[in-house]
Amino acid sequence: MDGEGEAHQERRRPAAWVPGAIIVGAGPSGLAAAACLAARGVPATVLEMSDSLASTWRHRTYDRLTLHLPKRFCQLPLLPFPEGYPAYPSKDQFVAYMEAYAAAAGVAPRFGARVEEAAFDPAAGAWAVRLGGEGGELLLARWLVVATGENAVPRKPAFPGAARFAGRVMHTRDYKSGEAFAGKKVLVVGCGNSGMEVSLDLCRHGAKPSMVVRNTVHVLPREMLGISTFGIAMALLKLFSVQVVDRILLAAARVVLGDTGKLGLRRPKTGPMELKNLTGRTPVLDVGTIGHIKTGKIKVVGAVKEVTPCGVRFADGEEEQFDAIILATGYRSNVPSWLKDGGEVFTREGMPKVPFPNGWKGKNGLYTVGFSQRGLLGASSDALNIARDIHCQWKDMMSGPANNNVLQSSDNV
Ligand SMILES: Cc1cc2nc3c(=O)[nH]c(=O)nc-3n(C[C@H](O)[C@H](O)[C@H](O)COP(=O)(O)OP(=O)(O)OC[C@H]3O[C@@H](n4cnc5c(N)ncnc54)[C@H](O)[C@@H]3O)c2cc1C
Repeated sequence: MDGEGEAHQERRRPAAWVPGAIIVGAGPSGLAAAACLAARGVPATVLEMSDSLASTWRHRTYDRLTLHLPKRFCQLPLLPFPEGYPAYPSKDQFVAYMEAYAAAAGVAPRFGARVEEAAFDPAAGAWAVRLGGEGGELLLARWLVVATGENAVPRKPAFPGAARFAGRVMHTRDYKSGEAFAGKKVLVVGCGNSGMEVSLDLCRHGAKPSMVVRNTVHVLPREMLGISTFGIAMALLKLFSVQVVDRILLAAARVVLGDTGKLGLRRPKTGPMELKNLTGRTPVLDVGTIGHIKTGKIKVVGAVKEVTPCGVRFADGEEEQFDAIILATGYRSNVPSWLKDGGEVFTREGMPKVPFPNGWKGKNGLYTVGFSQRGLLGASSDALNIARDIHCQWKDMMSGPANNNVLQSSDNV
């Protein structure tokens, strides 16, 4: 080790044991895991890199966002949404629910605590979790719960020529409202739920959006005859095979939305629920975008070949001017950037190797919550499983002679 390395090492504080589990991330998944553990009497330290809980919802979503699914499919274990909430709570209502949830469970995350590295230490029989910042604080815990989310890092396609574009380029993560784009021509790249909703929001603020649709996409009405399509699908899946349910959903979607293929939105060959099961791709739940495409207020365009100084050239050679480009191109996990020794549980993309409902448990006390591509319902299921599993070990540990090493402070690791 060179001199600089030694000096750095000396500045580091000794490792400190924390009782129970370390949970990385104070979004809905991390809070659900902490609350379920607390309900069973197992302590947990929740580490959150931002300045508040539910930070993705608070800081990284657009103003008009409401839950995509009805509230009964989005509430976390142990505490339902408040009585007066609408069927699709707004983003602010959801954040308020998260605040109340953490308070009711007695969960107080540690903010400004970015986990830079976590690795299993066989000598200690614990997870060594290194925080960022001066001194690189090192924590040790018997259990590590990964709750950093599927949406940690925005995916940004590298279009040729993007650097010379004179207009504004942003990811939907930084988009708040269409107000700033009134009267402007905006290219929205992507046609998932975010791309569709941002296009609609732009329209409602007097902008002229064009939406890039490169791949096939399933669009379903959010509701049919006033009943949630997701709810209908869940009920039907208890009675019929996924293929039969898909045929019913597609027939109903055709009645409500018409032939979306004619609008440039070609459907995949595999049905929406089967595709979700196979690939995690979520069908788009339409909240009015299709109507605006039909009336020409939102234009559907093909793949982008390159960005020009004042617009884009499409794959078919056509060129068009735009004032701004909004990337609705999704997110990826950040787990590979900080979790060492997670290779048996996580893929190189930072998603669990074992699919839902069994992807929540790894080896050596490693757990994952909120990576099942099943939204808050999936996170709730993971959280309950994790709490049950850790609680069993915690009980044995607290009643056996080994209990002292979970509670002590240590500087020899
Ligand atoms: C626009 C949008 C709408 C959605 N609507 C719905 C819906 O209606 N219903 C539904 O069920 N699902 C919905 N989802 C999907 C999903 O439920 C949400 O994304 C939800 O926020 C996921 O919760 P999470 O806790 O797993 O992740 P996040 O909410 O992203 O929380 C992860 C937390 O981990 C923190 N973190 C990350 N890395 C570190 C680190 N190294 N150290 C410390 N902290 C770290 C982050 O700061 C963040 O606070 C939606 C997603 C999006 C993007």
